[in-house]
Amino acid sequence: MTMRQSTSLSSLSSYDKDYSAQSHYTRNNLLSGQWQSKVPERNVNRDVLVSEEYVNDRQDRVIGKTDRSAGQKKKKKKHLITANLSGTRYDVVRQMVEKVGFSVTKDDDLGAYLIWNDSFVSMDRISELKSYQRMNHFPGMGEITRKDALARNLLRLQKAFPDDYNFIPKTWILPTDHSLLLGYARDLKAKKKQRTFIAKPSNGAQGHGIALYKNAEKIPQTEHFIVQEYIDKPLLLDGYKFDLRVYVLVTSCDPLRIFLLNDGLVRLCTEKYVPPSDGNVGRLFMHLTNYSVNKHSDSYEKSMGVDTGSKRSIKYLNDHLRKNDYDVTLLWKNISEMIVKTMLVAEPHILHAYRMCRPGQSPASDSVCFEVLGFDFMIDRKCRPWLIEINRSPSFGTDEKIDYDIKSSLIEDTLHLLNIKVSDKRRNLANMKAEAQKRLFRTTKKGDTADMTELEKRRHNIAKRKEELKEQLNRVRKATAREDYENRNLGRFRRIFPSDDKIRQEKYCNLLMTAFSVILSGRGAAMQKEILQTYNNRLQEEDITDQIEQCEVDEKEGRIFTSQGRPPRIPKPLTSMPDNLPVTAEQREDDDDSDDQTESFSKRILTGGSRSRPQSVHQRSNSESPPSNKSGGATGRPASNTSLQRTKSLTRIPAANKTASSQRTGVDENILSSMVKEREEELTKKTLTALNEMRIKFPGKSDAEADNLLDRLHENMKFHKPRIASYWLVKLDSIKRRKVIDIVRSNVRAVIQRIWKCSDIDSLRLFRIFSRVFNRLLWSHGQGLWNCFASVGNSWETIFSKSSECISENEMNSCRRIVQLCKDCLLIVYQFATEAKAAPSQPTSDTEEQSPITYNGYSYLPSRDAKPPPTWNPQTFSQRYSKLYQSKVEGMT
Ligand code: ADP
Repeated sequence: MTMRQSTSLSSLSSYDKDYSAQSHYTRNNLLSGQWQSKVPERNVNRDVLVSEEYVNDRQDRVIGKTDRSAGQKKKKKKHLITANLSGTRYDVVRQMVEKVGFSVTKDDDLGAYLIWNDSFVSMDRISELKSYQRMNHFPGMGEITRKDALARNLLRLQKAFPDDYNFIPKTWILPTDHSLLLGYARDLKAKKKQRTFIAKPSNGAQGHGIALYKNAEKIPQTEHFIVQEYIDKPLLLDGYKFDLRVYVLVTSCDPLRIFLLNDGLVRLCTEKYVPPSDGNVGRLFMHLTNYSVNKHSDSYEKSMGVDTGSKRSIKYLNDHLRKNDYDVTLLWKNISEMIVKTMLVAEPHILHAYRMCRPGQSPASDSVCFEVLGFDFMIDRKCRPWLIEINRSPSFGTDEKIDYDIKSSLIEDTLHLLNIKVSDKRRNLANMKAEAQKRLFRTTKKGDTADMTELEKRRHNIAKRKEELKEQLNRVRKATAREDYENRNLGRFRRIFPSDDKIRQEKYCNLLMTAFSVILSGRGAAMQKEILQTYNNRLQEEDITDQIEQCEVDEKEGRIFTSQGRPPRIPKPLTSMPDNLPVTAEQREDDDDSDDQTESFSKRILTGGSRSRPQSVHQRSNSESPPSNKSGGATGRPASNTSLQRTKSLTRIPAANKTASSQRTGVDENILSSMVKEREEELTKKTLTALNEMRIKFPGKSDAEADNLLDRLHENMKFHKPRIASYWLVKLDSIKRRKVIDIVRSNVRAVIQRIWKCSDIDSLRLFRIFSRVFNRLLWSHGQGLWNCFASVGNSWETIFSKSSECISENEMNSCRRIVQLCKDCLLIVYQFATEAKAAPSQPTSDTEEQSPITYNGYSYLPSRDAKPPPTWNPQTFSQRYSKLYQSKVEGMT
């Protein structure tokens, strides 16, 4: 399979270097005023690829079919992907559609897979589309493509985020804002400042009806115009004013996905620029950059080379700017942020309109709409970009070679990213049937629940939860598959939303939530959770499979929650768990106290420290787990380390690494992958060493004392086991159990942060593996960890035996160490609670207990030399607990 090189560099500026190399079309003929290219002809039977969604590379899908025998051709032909192009006048669209192997169908074929229209279509037409069809317009997009609507929407967000939405020139919407405009002009006069204004028809295009005014009072009041402050100090190219046409593809609004093309057009005026004056405001060839205006100028120059002509490429502009010491990377970072921020303002309108048109469409299904937008920017003398307008039907005219080069790859890459498959139609039918059946099933079930017994209802709830999880899993898998497909088929696009940069993405989510609440005032709050879930908090596949597994275990073992969702007070004994101790009345009374003691304890308990200590009993018990250097020691998990599996794991390296790896596009993928693998292995090893050095501290006791204590607990396990079981499984509720595990988790996080030097720990493969282990330990109301005290087997290891992910020896041993630390932590917490309960209650000196010692910038609580705590101060559980999280591991520097 030939993988198409995906482009994921951080700015347009980085891509354009290979522009010339990629421009493989040659000027061969000029037909009817349009520049035409020789498009390689291909007889394509697209049904070869039908069954897999997102899986196959587009090269497979197109090229892999050419070898079919002629005899088969006739039969296969009716399965081609069809495109209805009756609504477009552009030849380049037809050429690219044929190039990617679609078949252009009859004008009246309303069931075609792809429908391309130059102008916008009605919402009714979008409602009528079948879910396998795609049309090149979204409903609601007019909210950013009409000049007055764009200004109105951006100004609304500007109120909430003045620093983020300051990228359009000062704007007034007439006739409403006429008096505001005059007031502004008067203020300027009073301050003796001069400004020029540009008035544009609200729904205009191609420069029609535009005029410049030196005096705002002369602007007619009654018309539907927008008036802007004129950018009078534009950056010039060879003395000419210019603007940028940047192409943006939106493939879906539910969820929003935005791509930016790595090239575009620079359109120059045809008369040298002179700042506006009463004498020159009427000279359109000097002040308007539209091609539709300037092509009528005698000075219009067709582009013959990269550095001449009235139209040039963005690649050329970037080179030019770089040569003149402008920060091109920053320029494109700003432009891509402006595009996303504008789309975030449009999203509430588009999503609302889209959902109205497509009620009941599952979020996991493909969008029936997509859109190629033309964003126009101007750059001022300080290299600051300004958004001028957005076109929903950008011209695909190819009068010149430069047009053809850029627009043909724009359309071709768009068609590939849409990932239309022959099988979409069949799947659509099957889905419709399944949905209908499900609806039928749901009604029957609803009727049934009324007659259910309490037990049946609970069972039913678990089954329902499992169904929900499965649906969620399906969505997550589809999203992952979609992302994988996109990454392999970006062509000359790069995805700008959702962003790979976590911090930026968080900021976008914040803007999006505000946009919803400002624009859809009443419904904004309801969208918040959905936005966070969709864009900022994507559950990982393993988390969901773990939860499904837990449902299954609960179902099998009859552990069914009460209606309040709490587990039964006394858990069902496991083989590894001794009979539960009867909870005495005294213990019950002390419940709250004891929890508090646990927590105050955990404030003082810390993992870490590099001091070695003698081999202890409980350490020896750790060595019962399979030895680290034995092959296949990882409990029968798939030990193979195939490149495929490795590639899978590599997709999970942190964003920063990802970018770095894909930037080295010249390096052989295998070498790159083995380099990354080696580095990962080395860091994992270091992590394991650090984890082995970590110790659970007992507040007020030295490490040796804590070790002795653990040894004593292990020696008397027979006595302690039922008490520990009662304490962990019964006394602590799920929040407190989680907090005990979090003592280890937060310190492990700190260790990883130090070793991997990575800010986005959560997306790090190793930490995600650890998270699965931590989650497993909390499984079934704490039974996960409790099972680890059993003398046989380590049930948590099965999470890896069922997964297709390959876990290395070092990773597995790190997990084992973590489990050991959690066990130690539980023992110490238990011991601490027991001691605290026995000790008489005395007030504690706050300063002694709370002032952590700082060491190399980290703070930690004293342990070795501190006096044993007299007892706990009366702080609340969470107050004391929160301090623990601030602590870092001693000796980590
Ligand atoms: P149209 O849709 O009619 O092309 P635009 O808003 O794109 O209208 O404006 C046309 C041209 O006018 C732009 O390409 C740009 O050259 C110029 N222009 C528009 N707004 C401004 C402005 N605020 N400052 C300077 N030039 C502007």
